[in-house]
Amino acid sequence: MATAIIPGVTELLVPIPNNPLENTNVYLLRGDDGYLLIDTGWNSDYALRALGKELGDAGAEYKDIKQIVVTHAHFDHYGLVGRLKQLTKAKVYLHQRDEEIFRTRYAITEEFMRQSEAWFYANGVPRTELSVTRMPFGGMSAGGLPPQPDITLNGGETISTGIFNLEVVWTPGHSPGSICLYERKHKLLFSGDHILPVITPNISLVPKSEGNPLGEFLKSLELVRGLDVSTVLPAHENIFHDLPKRIDEILHHHEFRNQEILAALADGAKTAYEISNHITWMPELGGVHFRDLMPGDKRAAVSETLAHLRAMTVNGRVKVNMRNNMYYYERV
Ligand SMILES: [Zn+2]
Ligand SMILES: [Zn+2]
Repeated sequence: MATAIIPGVTELLVPIPNNPLENTNVYLLRGDDGYLLIDTGWNSDYALRALGKELGDAGAEYKDIKQIVVTHAHFDHYGLVGRLKQLTKAKVYLHQRDEEIFRTRYAITEEFMRQSEAWFYANGVPRTELSVTRMPFGGMSAGGLPPQPDITLNGGETISTGIFNLEVVWTPGHSPGSICLYERKHKLLFSGDHILPVITPNISLVPKSEGNPLGEFLKSLELVRGLDVSTVLPAHENIFHDLPKRIDEILHHHEFRNQEILAALADGAKTAYEISNHITWMPELGGVHFRDLMPGDKRAAVSETLAHLRAMTVNGRVKVNMRNNMYYYERV
């Protein structure tokens, strides 16, 4: 059901098939000449039909959409870009760091799969479970890749509808090119997946990455804390108001997880897979043991553990050693 947030800003719900997040919240902003859309939805007939109906409820038509700004390249945000390009002729914006992963990682090669499996194996994932590391971006290639963006962003730009001015705030972490959009006059923050009210966004180390996504994410939290915001409009779950409180909760969640990892290392060095066994997963849902996770979720969990281990390695709280071609982490 399309919901007016303030005059000229409407939230549209686009369902994500078979996903506990249920919907992508797409935002429709009025302009002098047509509309701007923030995010799109998962690439499916069902999602497109729902989006079409929501647009109709909001009094808009596809042909009125002039700009589409995508907060990051994940498929529940970027997926419908291809079909919407055909229906709207809108210009599509995406941060350049996500355009890079879009080109290098969405087109999954056998070589990438092999490297990815070897990397998970070196991080302790047993051979019997390695097949679950296949298709890490499950289903993304279905129906072909969506088109590349028309305009790539660096952060710091202002995208205007003539009525609303969206400042692009680069908030890497959940993905390298995640952005938030800040509407200063109305104190609105379109937070993408960077900040959600209940679920803590997944921060993962990707195979063979040299980066520190959790370290970047924590810096990105501090970046948005400095903005004067009265309403946060996230890409999933509900709109909320107290941004500093939510930032503190997320920081607490990550430090709690660091403490779980350090406790797991109290009796000696372990692989990321072994450490993952000592972590409370999905604490928002009351906590799930690693062994009870679905195979795909186990792989995601190991990637999240590795993001924490990388951040703590950079901080000097843990160190990593290679033994028998396996990575072992220990306390410093
Ligand atoms: Zn995402
Ligand atoms: Zn998402």
